[in-house]
Amino acid sequence: QDPFPAPGRIRVVTIANQKGGVGKTTSTVNLGVALSLFGLRVLVIDLDPQGNASTALGVDHVVGTPSIYDALVGESTLAEVTHPTTASPNLRCVPATIDLAGAEIELVSVVAREHRLRRAIEAHLHALPAEERPHYVLIDCPPSLGLLTLNALVAGDEVLIPIQCEYYALEGLGQLLSNIELVRAHLNPGISVSTILLTMYDGRTKLADQVADEVRNHFGELVLSSVIPRNVRVSEAPGYGQSVLTYDPGSRGSTSYVEAARELAVRGAELGPLVPVQPAPA
Ligand code: ADP
Ligand code: MG
Repeated sequence: QDPFPAPGRIRVVTIANQKGGVGKTTSTVNLGVALSLFGLRVLVIDLDPQGNASTALGVDHVVGTPSIYDALVGESTLAEVTHPTTASPNLRCVPATIDLAGAEIELVSVVAREHRLRRAIEAHLHALPAEERPHYVLIDCPPSLGLLTLNALVAGDEVLIPIQCEYYALEGLGQLLSNIELVRAHLNPGISVSTILLTMYDGRTKLADQVADEVRNHFGELVLSSVIPRNVRVSEAPGYGQSVLTYDPGSRGSTSYVEAARELAVRGAELGPLVPVQPAPA
């Protein structure tokens, strides 16, 4: 099949929703694998101490593994903590170990604590030769609005919010959106919500349609037309250290993530170069 179009500029996409279990990690992993299998270079940054994205990409994350913790709290460069994945040579991963759980507290006393991830990513992208720079940097956030998610919102150019087609889907979303506004006002003028992805859609229930309609009414064009169905293959794949695309390429979970990634890529190709925003205070 034809490769996906490259984005007009490097896209740093923060995948956030403070609710757990809505498909953040699953979407980060499967969109990342899809983009990489269709010719784009992708860096996945696991920012959840649980390390689920690392697991799904077949990247070891036992304590002691060079990880995002070393780049945020320590002095490591991202290059030093970036690992290859089993999914694709185009896809690399910065894993998270359980050490990261302490980072929320350890970072409190660190200078420019909200800017640690942004600085690390910027330095990394500058240091890489152009032909090795990722087209996409995907940041998988933990289910909270603490200092880790704040770092991801300061580091990103855009936010992708997965919304589960379930009861209470929109609950708490207001809080996330107002946090994004606060970050935009004070820390990262470049950030905005670019994409909403409907996940775990169950076509047999009326509720799923109601939620999907409500989300589309509220967010309009931000919502991808591709919807991710609830599909058992999606939930099985991480147990084998795989994405659903490699685990069961013919499954509906796999094809829907490929379609969602294609949409994301097509939208990205329409983006112009990033308007330089003022540098963060030192
Ligand atoms: P989050 O990162 O937001 O906490 P996850 O991506 O870990 O959420 O998903 C929560 C659970 O739901 C996981 O067990 C995952 O395997 C499962 N899951 C996610 N998406 C789907 C889907 N489309 N179909 C079936 N199970 C899914
Ligand atoms: Mg997760």
